[in-house]
Amino acid sequence: MTVREAAALIRAGGLVAFATETVYGLGANALDAAAVRRIYEIKGRPATSPLIVHVSSVGMARDLAAGWSELAGRLAALYWPGPLTLVLPKRPHVPGVVTAGLDTVALRMPAHPQALELIATAGVPVAAPSANRFTQLSPTTARHVQDAFEGRVPVLDGGPCAVGIESTVLSLAGPAPVLLRPGMIPRDELVAIAGPLAEPAAGPEAAGGAHASPGQHERHYQPRTPLYLDHGEGRPGRGLLLRHGRELPATASEYAARLYGILHEADAAGYDWIAIEPPPGGAVWEGIRDRLQRAAARRTEGT
Ligand code: AMP
Ligand code: MG
Repeated sequence: MTVREAAALIRAGGLVAFATETVYGLGANALDAAAVRRIYEIKGRPATSPLIVHVSSVGMARDLAAGWSELAGRLAALYWPGPLTLVLPKRPHVPGVVTAGLDTVALRMPAHPQALELIATAGVPVAAPSANRFTQLSPTTARHVQDAFEGRVPVLDGGPCAVGIESTVLSLAGPAPVLLRPGMIPRDELVAIAGPLAEPAAGPEAAGGAHASPGQHERHYQPRTPLYLDHGEGRPGRGLLLRHGRELPATASEYAARLYGILHEADAAGYDWIAIEPPPGGAVWEGIRDRLQRAAARRTEGT
């Protein structure tokens, strides 16, 4: 499928999966409530999880945000296009289905030329969560998307995703900025620009029943194979141990870029369990630690 065809589909109220630099997104016209509802249906995603709206220009973002602050402008100038999502008060014309009824909207300009071309050609903002079924592993190749939806969703193939884990989500909607989801932009870098960060409101029930950040579901980003954050010692069955600097890359950026691909492969190989050596501490690893903890959450929850 070409960018033109994909853009025409979006304009006509359809869904298209497309590559961004973080993970593949499942996109629809953010201003078309019926189209956005279909994203939730096909993903099996609860209506309480708001979507990120992807834009191809700062102007498009400002059309959707009610309060575009000086800080929003500075962050966008520094990080857009790139893996930073900004949560801002929304304008009334942003459908409630996109924001799970919240009065804020999450905005991002992706750093993938094909994604930017798609949005610009469609001429509308594109709401897109990761193109996988709810709670499962995020896709970082077109093939992952095909497998997740068994070919039922058209995919614009943009190659493997360079960043590899989901964007950093920063809320600018309150009195102090809040890091809702860590990503590959280190926390200390954000503090240097935005000042001290406030803690996210406790629990997913914050913000009137909608998840303040859907990335905050404790179980998320999960392979089907049970995953443990340890060295797998003494565990019965046929397992796979993924070690830092061996089966998984040594640097945080390469580790993130390869992580989901390696987990998709491990999942397909039919192991009884996967063990991942706990990654290092430190700010550059925070996003990776967050994803791994959620990927392993079922073990500690016992569900
Ligand atoms: P994903 O499920 O991977 O598409 O991630 C979507 C992300 O969107 C979540 O982690 C949220 O942080 C973010 N998000 C979207 N809309 C909002 C909003 N209005 N307020 C806070 N976070 C939002
Ligand atoms: Mg997701």
